[in-house]
Amino acid sequence: MNERVLEISNLRIDYPTRAGIVRAVDDVSLTVYSGEVLGLVGESGCGKSTLGMAILRLLRPPGKIVGGKIIFDGQNLLELSEEEMRRLRGARISTVFQDPMTCLNPLQRISDHFLETIRTHGSQDKHEARRLAAQLIDRLGIRAERLDDYPHQFSGGMRQRVMIGLALALNADLIIADEPTTSLDVIVEAQFLDLLRDLQQQFKLTIILITHNIGVVAELADRVAVMYAGKLVELAEALPLFDTPLHPYTRGLLSSVPNISLTEDRLQIMSGSPPDLINPPPGCRFHPRCPRAMERCRVEEPLFKEVELGHWTACWLYEK
Ligand code: SF4
Repeated sequence: MNERVLEISNLRIDYPTRAGIVRAVDDVSLTVYSGEVLGLVGESGCGKSTLGMAILRLLRPPGKIVGGKIIFDGQNLLELSEEEMRRLRGARISTVFQDPMTCLNPLQRISDHFLETIRTHGSQDKHEARRLAAQLIDRLGIRAERLDDYPHQFSGGMRQRVMIGLALALNADLIIADEPTTSLDVIVEAQFLDLLRDLQQQFKLTIILITHNIGVVAELADRVAVMYAGKLVELAEALPLFDTPLHPYTRGLLSSVPNISLTEDRLQIMSGSPPDLINPPPGCRFHPRCPRAMERCRVEEPLFKEVELGHWTACWLYEK
């Protein structure tokens, strides 16, 4: 197993609201290893993006981390000053968001974004930074002369490639990609995923890939973590997870994905919707939607346990 890049333990994140406290992430522990792509999947509102933002300490108010640790490079990110976090973001931990226009300044040329990023965190002079930017953008399949264009002159796919380029520019130890393909059409999405896979293998990038799209995870992830209602419910290497998912929620997610080899006429759609996180159901939070729910599931919360080597789940079906 490669070295640990990030270790999250017992993380809890609350959003105090007038109606009560929404516990968006509840006691989540997760390790990310160097050179792997960890897919983090689940329905909207399950806490996966909140977890990504918490690693960067960029939770929007009133979101608050109320417990746990996030260890990166031997230090607990929750104990760093804002200045120390600012130095870490971009340089050591980079991000690729769903809509790159929210990260790219529309008034700055693409070259300015690269130069600013490289010179803020690196030591290159202006000419050296520009040469590096031209090399990077060329590697991303964009002609170097386009460096002086503005973001609005780029397509959505090209803007996403620029975001990856900015992460590569600083040789980040960890990239958090949050729904990076959601704004792309299917052709551009496929091209972007191909490029990301090539870059990941070439540079041994460590990526947390946050998405609701199981197909995207199947393309790229080495391991997959599944979240439901703020909890981690399954974690395994990608192949065993897709071949033999253990948790009924993961099974439901997989069977609701269109599949060319599907023999039945209709897709199986998971019934119900995720619970209210101010008053989550007692016991297993999935029990109101679970086709295998038992009496015990309604009252006792299952622990997150390793059922087979490297394959973890939180479900009473696997209690020996
Ligand atoms: Fe379903 Fe029970 Fe397993 Fe929860 S613990 S997923 S309700 S079988």
